[in-house]
Amino acid sequence: FLLYLFYLVSPIGQIIQSLTQIQNGLAAVTRIQEIAMLRTEPAAAPVARAGGEPVGVTFSGVVFRYGEDRPVVHHDVTFEVPAGGMTALVGPSGAGKSTVFGLIERFYEPQEGAITVGGRDIRDWPLGELRAMLGYVEQDAPVLAGTFRENLVFGAPGATDEEVARALARTRLDDLVERLPEGLETPVGHRGILLSGGERQRVAIARALLRRPRLLLLDEATSQLDAVNEMRLREVVAEVARETTVLVIAHRLSTVTGADRIVVMEAGRVRAWGTHDELVAADALYRELAATQFLVSS
Ligand code: ATP
Repeated sequence: FLLYLFYLVSPIGQIIQSLTQIQNGLAAVTRIQEIAMLRTEPAAAPVARAGGEPVGVTFSGVVFRYGEDRPVVHHDVTFEVPAGGMTALVGPSGAGKSTVFGLIERFYEPQEGAITVGGRDIRDWPLGELRAMLGYVEQDAPVLAGTFRENLVFGAPGATDEEVARALARTRLDDLVERLPEGLETPVGHRGILLSGGERQRVAIARALLRRPRLLLLDEATSQLDAVNEMRLREVVAEVARETTVLVIAHRLSTVTGADRIVVMEAGRVRAWGTHDELVAADALYRELAATQFLVSS
């Protein structure tokens, strides 16, 4: 504890914290560069908005490390995400959950095993088509400079007013927009109104929905949400899962107890899957996670 206190107050601790922030920033830049690269790739057809039936995902015997000299991150990952509905990935930090997203997006290739999306090996999808099918909502999503509307239609420039209104209603942001002085034309972000963590994540979901994804990858916000925002996010995700496939990395079990399927990862392996009730009955790690989050008495 003393060490932690030292870390919090010391200049060294602050420098380490700043370095972590810079590192996070660099990771975001890399991701933007990767997306920018995709845009210029001749093989990637400019299909910005996919539309279509929800798609499922399978991982079969996936073995992955980030580089030759890096440790193995996925030892043998096998699971299935059915098309439609909500599947949640849970497990301790470092289990390999975010890596699952990176592999589905094909930012990396597994060394062994196979991944399918929509029943087809992801290596057989043209990269542009694969990524156009995917919506990605990152943890603690940033609000872009500009108006509320610009934040929504970024990535879906052809979206109609009806589609924008629908995305706002689905993400429970319509009341908020109604209260804004200039409605959708109100500037947001550091030059305009400030949005809470929960609102920012719902803006990011609305932005992703306007691209009509067939699979939505959602990395749940780790920042503390108040009870109302947490409940809203839960409702929104459940509703979105009625029309597309949602794969969510859950940091709070309370958000996913109602998921159709929960996949429990630990140290690069899938150790169990099932519904919340099935896992509480059958999996010790899940029961422990649930107990620490006060969902069951241990
Ligand atoms: P968390 O809940 O903390 O986000 P996680 O279950 O999502 O954890 P991953 O982020 O997939 O876990 O990380 C699994 C392992 O891979 C960790 O040891 C991590 O340090 C490593 N790792 C993640 N991303 C990279 C990367 N881009 N390059 C190298 N190693 C990475």
